[in-house]
Amino acid sequence: MIDDMLRTPEAIRDAERWTAHNYHPLPVVISSAEGSWLTDVDGRRYLDCLAGYSALNFGHRHPTLIAAAHAQLDRLTLTSRAFVHDQFADFCRELAELCGKDLVLPMNTGAEAVETGIKVARKWGYQVKGVAPGMANIVVAEGNFHGRTTTIVSFSTDEDARADFGPYTPGFTVVPYGDLAALSAAIDENTVAVLLEPIQGEQGVVVPPEGYLPGVRRVCTERNVLFIADEIQSGLGRTGDTFACDHEGVTPDMYLLGKALGGGIVPVSAVAANTDVLGVLRPGQHGSTFGGNPLACAVATEVVRLLATGEFQRRSTELGARLHAGLRSLVGRGLLAVRGRGLWAGLDIDPALMSGREACERLAERGVLAKDTHGSTIRLAPPLVITEEEIDHAVAQLAAVLAG
Ligand SMILES: *Cc1c(COP(=O)(O)O)cnc(C)c1O
Repeated sequence: MIDDMLRTPEAIRDAERWTAHNYHPLPVVISSAEGSWLTDVDGRRYLDCLAGYSALNFGHRHPTLIAAAHAQLDRLTLTSRAFVHDQFADFCRELAELCGKDLVLPMNTGAEAVETGIKVARKWGYQVKGVAPGMANIVVAEGNFHGRTTTIVSFSTDEDARADFGPYTPGFTVVPYGDLAALSAAIDENTVAVLLEPIQGEQGVVVPPEGYLPGVRRVCTERNVLFIADEIQSGLGRTGDTFACDHEGVTPDMYLLGKALGGGIVPVSAVAANTDVLGVLRPGQHGSTFGGNPLACAVATEVVRLLATGEFQRRSTELGARLHAGLRSLVGRGLLAVRGRGLWAGLDIDPALMSGREACERLAERGVLAKDTHGSTIRLAPPLVITEEEIDHAVAQLAAVLAG
């Protein structure tokens, strides 16, 4: 095929012409997908090693999820929470059971789940803990990524995410990630919650030192502070467990979930917690027009059922071991370091060789899609339906890119 017959260049020009430039996508234009594979407008195929930042843990168009969506589209799509619909109870009960919590509050995007967690923690602080009016604070970690709302970027430490979006929401204290002593020292009598990612995805799949999460759990319990785990990216099978917290046997007071909960079909997020926490909300105090809608519930219930089998967690553990072994073999051959757990990896490429962006562009030319996070760090998060052969293929392509 000669170049000017390709549809990709024009499709990219059109996309750039008509959108705000808040993303810098790789130069591929996708038109269809199945399982772990994407096809572009020119018929080229790519192995998906990003999986929508973990929104596609079950792969593209998982048959069970697509069937649930189709069936629900033909019955009922939206009611608002002004009325109860017949998909709501099963979703809430089954997700609550998966989380080991009493209650669930459904929202749409991850950022809304985080906002919900913040609001619930503050209300809990005033009504249950007895914090003086307007004084509540929440301890968060350096390098965090919790979303893009004005409140959430107020406590981001990424200047790109934060600069020029002030005035900033007060009430947050930032401490180094993985440093239990610093976290403990930051807690005072007005602290209502500690909000953390159990593994920092956006920061480059940063795993905290062993014992940190159990330590945070202990300190939160001792000081009567809620432990909010943002498992929006790390949860729902990605790390080889249902939740990244499970790996260290830690149970937070609140789970924040999103991304994979929508099965790669619709945005679905949720907060799960016990009655003593989520029970502080009364009618009119919080809500969402689309949160918990019938289509979202129908798809997400099937997501929860897929996770309840344990199959995807098992795949992530087993295939993750293979992925990490392959990546470790490249340390010293273009990679400086590899981090992660399960089918989730952050790679630091030797910056003398190339940037993360360049590596991802070269991978794309070789039919593998991944995404840089910062500088020379890239993240791999393939769908959990990926096969051993496909993992070996991705590692081989990365080796070839690094070898120049
Ligand atoms: C993606 C993400 C969010 C925000 O989710 P959106 O659906 O993009 O609003 C929050 N926290 C973490 C850890 C995430 O990875």
